[in-house]
Amino acid sequence: MRTPMVAGNWKMNKTADQAKALVTELLPGLKAAVKVERVLCPTFTCLSSVHDLIKDTNIGLGAQNLHWEASGAFTGEISASMVKEFCDYVIIGHSERRQYFGETDETVNKKVKAAQAAGLLPIVCVGETLSENEAGKTKEVVTRQLKGGLAGVVVSDPAKLVIAYEPVWAIGTGRAATAQDAQNVCAIIRAELVSLFGKANADAIRILYGGSVTGANAAELFGMPDIDGGLVGGASLKPDFIAIVNAAN
Ligand code: 13P
Repeated sequence: MRTPMVAGNWKMNKTADQAKALVTELLPGLKAAVKVERVLCPTFTCLSSVHDLIKDTNIGLGAQNLHWEASGAFTGEISASMVKEFCDYVIIGHSERRQYFGETDETVNKKVKAAQAAGLLPIVCVGETLSENEAGKTKEVVTRQLKGGLAGVVVSDPAKLVIAYEPVWAIGTGRAATAQDAQNVCAIIRAELVSLFGKANADAIRILYGGSVTGANAAELFGMPDIDGGLVGGASLKPDFIAIVNAAN
């Protein structure tokens, strides 16, 4: 049995004071949904204050990125051990990072390995663009992203690796994938995980859907056999996040 997970990716939103206000508002609802692994992924500058607000709960804290090197002359970057001071989770290879910051399957791979070595749970994002989708290349793209991003990765605990399927055309557009279309791709992803890590591991690795998840569509998406929860952007900044968490509970 896979424990459902709902993670909120705040992206580049909220100052520390605004983060405190949001977490305070969400906290009662988050605390109550005990059957779901709930994770908040604020900006780096909010990690400390959000950490303090949730430290006596079992709500998880995640970063949105890290650098694979341990330390050194990498201006502006944050290492896995620095993330681990506050967090147990980290989002890796989000499409916005691939699109705007030059991340590739190769850098994703280095980041996944650095995250694992630091004891972080990586949430590894894959997903096709609109043109790739329209060209019928979805399977090819997500398979390539998984093979490249997870090359040489060792799964010692399948509960500590999460894949997020986020079709780029569904992110922030209000146009979520249909539950059936998302399921079809998540089944392709799970099949690829079987060939990478074996069936027992693949059956235990959580696959999240992300892209315009709301309280209104979450239950149908999360009801699909290969969708184990969601990676939520815009709606994670609002009380609607609790409705999404509850849909997985
Ligand atoms: P939205 O939920 O805003 O579409 O964003 C999804 C996402 O990118 C989460 O990582």
